[in-house]
Amino acid sequence: MNDQQTPQPSPANEATSGVPQTILVVEDEGDISNLVKFYLEKAGFRIIIAEDGAKGIELHAREHPDLVILDLMLPKVDGREVIKRIRQWSQTPVLMLTALRAEEDRIAGLDQGADDYLTKPFSARELVSRVRAILRRVAPRPSAASEALVYPGLTIHPATRRVEVNGHPVDLTAKEFSLLLTLASAPDQVFSRETLLSRVWGFEYLGDSRTVDVHVGTLRRKIEDDPAHPRFIKTIWRVGYKFDARGEAETDGGV
Ligand code: CA
Repeated sequence: MNDQQTPQPSPANEATSGVPQTILVVEDEGDISNLVKFYLEKAGFRIIIAEDGAKGIELHAREHPDLVILDLMLPKVDGREVIKRIRQWSQTPVLMLTALRAEEDRIAGLDQGADDYLTKPFSARELVSRVRAILRRVAPRPSAASEALVYPGLTIHPATRRVEVNGHPVDLTAKEFSLLLTLASAPDQVFSRETLLSRVWGFEYLGDSRTVDVHVGTLRRKIEDDPAHPRFIKTIWRVGYKFDARGEAETDGGV
């Protein structure tokens, strides 16, 4: 997808990494699973299908889907049991497909930890919008490794190692990126040069700590509006550096 310039992260069907989200469809009726696959693929999702409950559990464990669409009436292991098993090791959201009159199943499924249900027959539009709504609700918090770190005028995408300054992509070297990510992942925490050397360059790096200063310098030139008065990477005199999440320059903040 081509939204790299947009500072606002993620359409609902896409992680900030740009990788399509995977949906596991557990449904024994081929007509239904094919339709579901068709419409959700059109909406930008990656779809995998299991034809019975046992296969569904197996595929879930192997593929770690972002969401499960689960028919309740399934051969081998029924849908309620599938939810129960999945819930033993994960919080993957589950959208149940149920028959119109199966109120009891629906309630049992929700009790078992399903997130929502759709009654057959359903429209493609309703399916897609329900899926998006669930994924929005369970979107990872900013602390998750794959989620973008968003600061005023600076966005860092850990999964793709992309960085945008004021909405424009900037090229960082691998070391500059690691340095920035290390600092920005723990705003306001002061890092000594030695700590940064070991985190970014490896634990037994034999260079001297001025290596850190040199890289902070080149990083500031790429991400700071005014490298002499940095908004983000602040020097802590005699100690090291910290990342300022407010993104406000201090008059004496430079090296
Ligand atoms: Ca069925």
